[in-house]
Amino acid sequence: MARIVIVGAGGVGNVVAQKCAQDGATFGEIWLASRSLGKCDAIAADIKEASGVGIKTVQIDADNVGETVEFLKRVQPEILLNIALPYQDLTLMDACLEAGVHYLDTANYEPPETPHFEYKWQWAYQDRFREAGLTAILGSGFDPGVTNVFCAYALKHWFEEITTVDIIDANAGDHGLPFATNFNPEINIREITANGRFWEQGEWKEIPALSVSRDFDFPDNEIGSRKIYLLYHEELESLAKNLPGLQRIRFWMTFSDKYINHLKVLENVGMTAIEPIEFDGQQIAPLQFLKSVLPDPASLGPLTKGKTCIGCLITGRSKKSGELETKFIYNICDHQECYREVKSQAISYTAGVPAMIGARHLVSGAWLKPGVWNVEQLDPDPFMDDLNAWGLPWQVQEADQLLEPMA
Ligand code: NDP
Repeated sequence: MARIVIVGAGGVGNVVAQKCAQDGATFGEIWLASRSLGKCDAIAADIKEASGVGIKTVQIDADNVGETVEFLKRVQPEILLNIALPYQDLTLMDACLEAGVHYLDTANYEPPETPHFEYKWQWAYQDRFREAGLTAILGSGFDPGVTNVFCAYALKHWFEEITTVDIIDANAGDHGLPFATNFNPEINIREITANGRFWEQGEWKEIPALSVSRDFDFPDNEIGSRKIYLLYHEELESLAKNLPGLQRIRFWMTFSDKYINHLKVLENVGMTAIEPIEFDGQQIAPLQFLKSVLPDPASLGPLTKGKTCIGCLITGRSKKSGELETKFIYNICDHQECYREVKSQAISYTAGVPAMIGARHLVSGAWLKPGVWNVEQLDPDPFMDDLNAWGLPWQVQEADQLLEPMA
């Protein structure tokens, strides 16, 4: 049984802690460490009430490498799960290297001062992790994470080569509030207000933010047809590199008209800007101020009804027929079922369960491989089995069942 440290006690950290506590056979001692001890203690109390499992809590500043190393050396966990923010990725990787601990996260590094995320900073740790005999797994959430594993599974079992991938992410849940983001508002708004980008024939193509959209029929009557917008998303970068023969990869996400209208107004009045302005003698970044007045995503759990559907529409040359074939592989998740299980809405649930599954396979040894890896570089089979076992069952629509072929 492994001793693990989970850093971050937000919406996703709560799910990771709850799910790890459900798997006592794998995780013998769980530490939840975050900036605000009160949030860790509240999650620990919920877990104790739900399952009788006691987890340990501690206050740490993950930006402070020395403090984190001292804590890790004292506790000596096998794995650190970084469920804080992308800003902490490099300091936590540094701390893991110094303390001899395996590392896993769900989002790639982004410098706080620039809304630009890219894997280059974390891929640069490849030699150091390999030489230290440590494994770092990058992006083990849903997207990135499960979407990458879906592609790896399709390549292993269905296709000789994959030619195109469209990752499609629908949140058809409704929380009844005029405007709220379903994970960290600052990270979420930085992602959506950035220019869209996709990869085609070896080149990145850029479009103005939210300028390309279309309708897509989802394979669930409750979700139905929704408008999806082309965005840049981090898994495009690693999949474009790791899927041989790929000709095009894009990412799409649903947004309601209400959400887009609020976002446009906030952007037009300067509230999504990240450069600090002076207000009352203080330097304030408008987006950080906005975050502090928006609903905490963790508070949306009891309010949100409806479902999510996240999947990959994959075209490739079939191993069986040798012809080009398209399949849609996806998961449907129900917000209220998630809330009943772990007091969280489905966005945090779909991100948190795969982090726990990734950690299971570090512990089992299936994903233990010194170096720095995106999840599509590891064996997809045990992970796919665990999605079915741990709350995120997947389904496949074959070519003749597809409602909406994508041009
Ligand atoms: P939250 O903002 O709800 O939680 C972040 C947590 O990290 C908070 O508890 C926060 O502390 C803590 N934290 C922040 N800075 C530090 C620090 N310096 N030291 C210690 N703790 C710190 O975010 P979410 O739970 O919504 O998201 C967590 C991560 O999951 C993000 O990186 C996000 O990008 C990623 N994510 C990934 C998805 C995927 O599918 N791959 C989907 C959704 C999210 P405090 O409480 O004091 O603010």
